[in-house]
Amino acid sequence: MKRFSLLVAPILLACSSLLFAAPAVEHLRLSLIPTAVSSGAAEAMVVSGGRWTTKRHLVHAAVLIEHPKGHFLFDTGLGRQTAEAFARNNWINRTLLAYEQLNPARDQLEAAGYSANDIDFILPSHLHWDHLGGLPDFPGIPVKVLPGALEEARDHGEPPAFLAEQLEGEREWQQIELNNTPYQGFERSLDLFGDGQLILVDLSGHTAGQAGLFVNLPSGKRLFLIGDTSWTERGVEQNKPRPVFVQWLSHVDSDRERNSQQLKRVHELHLRDPELLIIPAHDEFVAAGLAQFPTFEE
Ligand SMILES: [Zn+2]
Repeated sequence: MKRFSLLVAPILLACSSLLFAAPAVEHLRLSLIPTAVSSGAAEAMVVSGGRWTTKRHLVHAAVLIEHPKGHFLFDTGLGRQTAEAFARNNWINRTLLAYEQLNPARDQLEAAGYSANDIDFILPSHLHWDHLGGLPDFPGIPVKVLPGALEEARDHGEPPAFLAEQLEGEREWQQIELNNTPYQGFERSLDLFGDGQLILVDLSGHTAGQAGLFVNLPSGKRLFLIGDTSWTERGVEQNKPRPVFVQWLSHVDSDRERNSQQLKRVHELHLRDPELLIIPAHDEFVAAGLAQFPTFEE
């Protein structure tokens, strides 16, 4: 009897870990996890030249990226603890940045059988509240950032753009160093897993150390996640920045001039390579065209 249970116990353990682990993947795949939408703003508030009569509901999303060598989240969207941190904003910012349909990435992952520990690391495009809101839901998971990002958030970050609560907690912050390999018009890059499928570039301007990520899927579909360089596809296609009055109203870009240069570079890339699907983090129409969790782009 004893021998039997000694044999059975490891099998049961192996089965249960199979049941509750994220699926091992044989090739790269990606899934958008919408975590909330903005309560609504006129398009003229989100892109220069936008209409006052068109209402936009920008999305706050996490992107799950699964590669045979690691699973990670690019951005985390809003999370279980966002409401508490957000409540400390003043009335104007709570109104301007209001959101609804909160559905944290961790809840959606768990509903699909994943655990927080199935995520190997988190790679935020930048450390603004609406990209980092889900971070406290993944305690202890390492975060990868480009140089300058964490320093700016910790030393100069102010609400509502940065919420200090989201940076708290025991966690390893790993600084990524790009190398001198040019990629798609960027002087420096990093091939994350060394196989040409996930390429990181520096899109500093919106914040210090904002990261952009090229994703080259096995199907041949190619994406470029550009964080908040622009909030909309329209901004990229027409090289239109955020309206100046929005920048004055709430200090959106750390370095507005530099962000304009980055936007121009992304715009020119779009003209050169129209097949490349450029994904501003918040454009709800672009998001709607991507596979949403638990389905995947492959
Ligand atoms: Zn931002």
